[in-house]
Amino acid sequence: MSSKLSHEGAAPARLTVCAPLRLEARAIRRGLRGSAGAEVRRTGMGARRSAAQAQRLADEGLAVQGLNVEWPGPVAVAGTCGALAPGLRPGDLVVATEVIGPGGDSIGCPAAPLLAGELRRAGFTVHEGPLGTVTRLMDRAQRDRAAAAGAIAVDMESAFLLAGRAGRPGRPAIVVRAVSDHASQPLLRPSTITGGIAALRALGRTGPVLARWAAATQPRQVLLAGPRSFCAGVERAIEIVERALGSSTAPVYVRKQIVHNTHVVSGLEQRGAVFVDELSEVPDGATVVFSAHGVAPSVRAEASRRSLDTVDATCPLVAKVHAEARRFATDGYLVALIGHAGHEEVDGTLGEAPGAMTLVQSVEDVAALEPADPAKVAYLMQTTLSADEAGVIVDALLERFPGARGPGSDDICYATTNRQQAVRAIAGDADVVLVAGSANSSNSKRLVETAERAGTPAYLIDHTGDIELDWLTGASTVGITAGASAPPAAVSQIVAALSGLGSVEVSERVVATESIRFGLPKEVRQA
Ligand code: SF4
Repeated sequence: MSSKLSHEGAAPARLTVCAPLRLEARAIRRGLRGSAGAEVRRTGMGARRSAAQAQRLADEGLAVQGLNVEWPGPVAVAGTCGALAPGLRPGDLVVATEVIGPGGDSIGCPAAPLLAGELRRAGFTVHEGPLGTVTRLMDRAQRDRAAAAGAIAVDMESAFLLAGRAGRPGRPAIVVRAVSDHASQPLLRPSTITGGIAALRALGRTGPVLARWAAATQPRQVLLAGPRSFCAGVERAIEIVERALGSSTAPVYVRKQIVHNTHVVSGLEQRGAVFVDELSEVPDGATVVFSAHGVAPSVRAEASRRSLDTVDATCPLVAKVHAEARRFATDGYLVALIGHAGHEEVDGTLGEAPGAMTLVQSVEDVAALEPADPAKVAYLMQTTLSADEAGVIVDALLERFPGARGPGSDDICYATTNRQQAVRAIAGDADVVLVAGSANSSNSKRLVETAERAGTPAYLIDHTGDIELDWLTGASTVGITAGASAPPAAVSQIVAALSGLGSVEVSERVVATESIRFGLPKEVRQA
């Protein structure tokens, strides 16, 4: 048996595509040409025919079960649809996140973000959202009711076809529909024909993506790394901005991203925070929050000169590194800061003693150091480095300068260390590791590298739709973690999406428990 966890019962995926109309079935068949094992069924228009086909699908599943095979295979419902939401254009695709039946009942399609992401990468314009099924497509009242229920587009079959699948938990199903009209235009007009042609063309081109989706479906295990996601410094920084927003009617400015995560930043933006790159973008007298990564003293001085109200969200563990930098510089040391060029934390720390500090990113940088006094060399680290990578550079420093002084306690923070140990603990048993985090998140990128060093392919995922289906093909065990700046919801969303590819068994490996909390600065303590 391989070192990876095995999942019994997985069988090759056999894709069944349900296409209501002859023209739709023909277009999809063309697109799937060359995809072994895919069957395109013309299921017929409307409720009655769709319900009959749904029953057939359910019976087939039972027959397969009778052969003691637990894997009935994925189902894709594909065809054209009418637009309800503005912005949908003929030839665009709608991937249903749920299907709402004529009676208002809803069937979820959890794999929608994965399929939508793959279709976007293939060049389609894709809209994700609820799809309404109506009994008469040209009935304006029914369309209005579906729109009121949140549907962005309508068809006449999906809810009836999926109803058969609903009784078979774990059977993956998706719905992709190509838009044939505009929401704002009359239902029947000459351009309906050209819209229909555009829709069928788009539908035909989805074939290879549907085949990739089917290949990625199977029951699987999900291994969660613990700890993962938010650390104490990130939680504190977010709370500081939230409190500043709550206590001020004027805009609250935040210099740089408060933490390196797009979801956190856009969430705070929606609540009124204004993110800027430099203080020059902040009006005199306004409130500005310094991010968790810290700032150089020159930034504080500028804020003071401009009479800005500042609230400092610098993580206390970053502030500790700043204090060490000042202490070593005052004592006459050349301080080698081990870190990555251009990272805001590194810029802020180097700013503490620009004349006495130098950035060291590699063993080669160590060899190039020219201290005035080789006996007075110290080193510090960016808090989010990989312990392995930093260790190699420290060894080189100590070899060249045996008396070099290091930090009083580890600069690589507890959260970074714990998350790296946790991802190492799952990587060996996973076929692939997904790391939730944004592209500019240093600690998230280090988690990817840590998993890769353990011999497992690993990918950084900012949005669930970033997951490429090929990464999951044949992966019976998926490891998941999240960088310290990524919200816990990012992990839940990935797990939910995987559940749309087949049943998932979720377990967690916890290598450390964290109870650290940092106090808030006085400016927002009462807010
Ligand atoms: Fe602070 Fe570490 Fe979190 Fe950075 S990763 S904010 S240093 S606790």
